[in-house]
Amino acid sequence: MRYEGTVYRPPSEADAFILQATIGCSWNACTYCDMYRAKQFRVRDMSEVLADIEEVRQAAGDQVDKVFVADGDALVMELGHWREILDACREAFPRLRRVSCYATAMNLKAKSVEELKSLREWGLRLCYIGPESGDDPTMKKIAKGAGFDDHAEAARRAHEAGLKLSAIFLLGAGGVERSQEHARASAELATAMNPRFVSLLTLTVIPGTPIAKLQERGKFTLPGVEALLRELRTFVAHAEPRDAIFRTNHASNYLPLSGRLPRDRERIVGVVDAALGGDAPLRPEWARGL
Ligand code: SF4
Repeated sequence: MRYEGTVYRPPSEADAFILQATIGCSWNACTYCDMYRAKQFRVRDMSEVLADIEEVRQAAGDQVDKVFVADGDALVMELGHWREILDACREAFPRLRRVSCYATAMNLKAKSVEELKSLREWGLRLCYIGPESGDDPTMKKIAKGAGFDDHAEAARRAHEAGLKLSAIFLLGAGGVERSQEHARASAELATAMNPRFVSLLTLTVIPGTPIAKLQERGKFTLPGVEALLRELRTFVAHAEPRDAIFRTNHASNYLPLSGRLPRDRERIVGVVDAALGGDAPLRPEWARGL
């Protein structure tokens, strides 16, 4: 396998075959993200991608049931490219259950519902999408490249095509100034997007990123732990997806939680309230990670 640079995947794809079909992220501008800063975006040569699929087929083709197509926003690939990859995966892996990838709202909006339906038919099942916020001023400040309405429309198209969504929001992204507005609008966007999975992560300011420079100049302040817990509480209290699997178990979070929203709302809010009152343990700073 010839991976180029560091390859990232969602925690729930730990057991998937990671197929690097693109290098980097076609957007590569979000102010908090340093995952692909060193990579110049390109779609990887098809012969290399097919060679990787063949290598895994020979080694363990009958064991692969999940494929995650990397890197940062692989949905950006054109339809013909996707078709070759998805056809090759179905042929190589007889037990294949799902193919997933990261996507941006722009990627989803750049494809017609018919095109998205074709991807679904060929085997793509799940897109991980990170609006990070639903608050337009916050989304603009973090250079998300798309706002509330773009994400709602992207989700509408995905649903119409039968693609599942996993949506990721970022506690702290609004800074101290828009902490509660960010949390409330994120809950509203989670409601509008109605994803199958919803995760919250906590913003970590990484040295060298644009947001770190804003922080150095006093133009961004990350909320403290209590304010972050209050954002979490607001999000859980207001998000109203139809039936979403909710997780805050990412290592960046202070309070790992899981359940279904809205079904488990009261229980989850109760745990957050206990944490705010000092009666539930928080993940210590040394145990937090990206
Ligand atoms: S779209 Fe995702 S991978 Fe690309 S810059 Fe933004 S956060 Fe990073």
